[in-house]
Amino acid sequence: MRSVVVLGSTGSIGKSTLMVARELPEALRIVGLATRGKAEQVIEQAKRFGVGVVAVEDASAAREAERLAAPHGIAVWPGAKGVAALAALPEADTVVCALVGLAGLRPVLAAMEAGHDVALATKEVLVSAGELVMRRRAEKRVNLLPLDSEHSALFQCLQAPDAQVACVRQPQSEEGVRRVEERIARLLLTASGGPFAGRPELDLTLVTPEQALAHPRWNMGRKVTIDSATMMNKGLEVLEASWLFDMPVSKIGVVVHPESIVHSLVTFVDGSTLAQLSVPDMRVPIQYALTWPERMTAAVPALDLVRQGSLNFFEPDEKRFPCLGLIREAACSGGTLPAVLNAADEVAVEAFLAGRIAFDGIWRTVAKVMEAHSVRHCDNFEKVFEADAWARRRAQELCAR
Ligand code: MG
Repeated sequence: MRSVVVLGSTGSIGKSTLMVARELPEALRIVGLATRGKAEQVIEQAKRFGVGVVAVEDASAAREAERLAAPHGIAVWPGAKGVAALAALPEADTVVCALVGLAGLRPVLAAMEAGHDVALATKEVLVSAGELVMRRRAEKRVNLLPLDSEHSALFQCLQAPDAQVACVRQPQSEEGVRRVEERIARLLLTASGGPFAGRPELDLTLVTPEQALAHPRWNMGRKVTIDSATMMNKGLEVLEASWLFDMPVSKIGVVVHPESIVHSLVTFVDGSTLAQLSVPDMRVPIQYALTWPERMTAAVPALDLVRQGSLNFFEPDEKRFPCLGLIREAACSGGTLPAVLNAADEVAVEAFLAGRIAFDGIWRTVAKVMEAHSVRHCDNFEKVFEADAWARRRAQELCAR
């Protein structure tokens, strides 16, 4: 039985996590829930899963949650402090972080500090502070498990045999511990391409938020859906993968795969490629992270390849979608530049959704903020937060013009 705290329980990943937990009551127990501002929903979830404590970041939503929670004996911890405290809840084993943006960083650190494993959906945490977070993970000897479908796919392909194979001797413990990098030639992330990759005739400067939010395959939160439409999401995922699997960005490729059936691939040095395939349903990677290294029966339908018929793959069009280039630039420079890219993107996506900038204004803003930044070495978390705050101010100024 694993005890799980879900940060961001009222968002898309959070809800899917609760669906997984509901299917596996003998394996997973929900012990804490956190939301930014959805008071009524989080209290409903707490009642349904018998959870005794919830955290609500927004102050007025927290007061509303307290009023709703009082008759049911549910404790409400308010503010960002409440969310971080919930991440460190003593009875938890695993903390699912599905908060939006860099707001996930402090709770992830709090969870690791408390010795909890973290199942991470908030890729911004690794994009902005990857080196420091991975160092903290190693110091605290906790697991950082990927929740994102692509990273779960890579993680699954990189596992040592997780089933007893009848035809061979089981590997000795010291076998199979060669560094990942010595075995792997390349990681390949698949991208659905979002709503615009297959429509070269479309003028991207005229795209509306409604068009950009209409993702053809995945039903996700607003930030990740817009990132998906600009392909910034795939760029952030390249950086995330490089930290999770200790691979240089130069060895991580991206291929557009509109059907979203192959979730990512690993090519080994002997020319073999392994891929993970499933229907596009976030319950698959979420369940894998929460039950790893076990596999358990899921409610998700298995893939029917004959019905699927064909799978297609294309080179991404980096002229139309320049975000992948910005990511490579940030990765090459390192230091505070990835945090700056991430912060500028968070601000620009909000500005686009609010109708203040055009669709192509998202990457133009990010590029301008990156250009204006003097990169610093990033040897502590304060420098990450400083660079993040600087980039947000700068991006806000640009978006206000
Ligand atoms: Mg993804």
